Amino acid sequence: MRIDVVTIFPDYLKVLDLSLVGRAADRGTLDLHVHDLRDHAHDRHRTVDDTPLGGGAGMVMKPDVWGEALDDVLAVDAPAERRQVLIIPTPSGEVFTQRTAEDLAGADSLVLACGRYEGIDTRVPEHYASRGIEVRELSIGDYVLNGGEAAAVVMIEAIARLLPGVLGNPESLVEESHGAAGLLEYPVYTRPTRWRDLEVDPVLLSGDHARIARTRRDQAIARTVSRRPDMIANLDAAHLDREDRAMLATMGWAVPVGAGRPVPVRIRAATDSDAEALADLAARTFPDACEHVIAPEFIAKHVTTNLVPGLFRTWAADDRVDLVVAELLAPLPSSQASSGTEPIGASAGPDLVGYAAVLREEPDAAGELPRGIDPRPACVQSRHGQVVGELSKVYIDSSMRGSGLTPALMSTVMQQAAGHGVNLFWLGTHVTNKRAQKAYKRAGFRQAGTRTYNVGGQDAHDVVMIRRTGEGL
Ligand code: SAM
Repeated sequence: MRIDVVTIFPDYLKVLDLSLVGRAADRGTLDLHVHDLRDHAHDRHRTVDDTPLGGGAGMVMKPDVWGEALDDVLAVDAPAERRQVLIIPTPSGEVFTQRTAEDLAGADSLVLACGRYEGIDTRVPEHYASRGIEVRELSIGDYVLNGGEAAAVVMIEAIARLLPGVLGNPESLVEESHGAAGLLEYPVYTRPTRWRDLEVDPVLLSGDHARIARTRRDQAIARTVSRRPDMIANLDAAHLDREDRAMLATMGWAVPVGAGRPVPVRIRAATDSDAEALADLAARTFPDACEHVIAPEFIAKHVTTNLVPGLFRTWAADDRVDLVVAELLAPLPSSQASSGTEPIGASAGPDLVGYAAVLREEPDAAGELPRGIDPRPACVQSRHGQVVGELSKVYIDSSMRGSGLTPALMSTVMQQAAGHGVNLFWLGTHVTNKRAQKAYKRAGFRQAGTRTYNVGGQDAHDVVMIRRTGEGL
């Protein structure tokens, strides 16, 4: 690639002789030429600027001087298949990103025109564009420098390292920040493994490449969520696997069904004022768990007698119940709204799209267990000192299936319950509901037996699953 830089400070570009770019120039991968703009100023003082027409502060660089300089370096009659780009660094340009660098790395030659003072007369880019030259006015960020030289150095370095043969190990380009993954890079470490009392994650020393890759991917997601939420909002959902989605959901971003990008959600403890929205959500999600095996009238009866606002109000007030909800923080595009009678967000309440509850098996002063707790099946036996909790509910709106919210809700509610002493969790789920059983297995549950469960007057056959704390919580 040939690069020409026109500037009033040619020495400024000498930094490019150092390091990788300098070596690329030595090897011939890069053919770098720096030109002094003043060679094209013909008065005694070699003047390159004049006062702004219309008045105002500062000086503007003269179009006639720039015209002569650029006519000299631009190959105006270059064959069409050679791509030549005139780059004018300016804070008012489009922002130069890794995508821009990748695009420009495909050009045959670049000419960079470094402005000073208030910049270059605007007719200069207009003129060359009208002559069929590809002109790019580019900014390296939302701040103002004194001149275009530093911006030119930044752009040349970013572009040159993408040229074949410039980086010793081209693998280093693959997982970098702003690469194809759309994430920032994971944190990096080297020896010594312990430095000033700081240790590295032992996974990195395990030699288990799959685990290392997963850990790094999770760290990259976590770092991007906290530092660059704008990048998370632009992630392409097609490139997110199940574990990515679960990680994102625990950090407040979920990918709705059919959506191309994650949307912000919050997983939080439920309060009294969620009761109505929770009853709505429960009514539209309960049938998902058993609609193929239980007649609709039994389901309807179960919903209207059990899953009522009063239940959720009681739970929110009962410290033996850990009840968490997932709330959408921005309305879904209408195509992804739930199939319920009311679109999400139509009511004044919170936009709840998932909930999970753990009921601790502990009598209150009156000897009563929490409302709605199921009798513990015989196959769930607690040893002395164990505190048993029923993972009573994990329900997700159909618009959020596969979004990562299910594992995120489960781990949040179980961690909360574990904090309140529960160390043996159990749950019942319909024998035919394989999707739920798989999700519970991924969350560390294993089958302990079966039970018969009454739904609105009809018996349902459930698989009973258990998990103890210490088993991965
Ligand atoms: N008056 C201009 C404006 O407000 O947009 C600023 C001119 S600046 C002081 C002088 C020169 O520095 C510009 O012509 C450009 O070459 C360079 N420059 C300053 N900030 C830059 C940035 N963020 N990106 C690229 N070039 C920049």
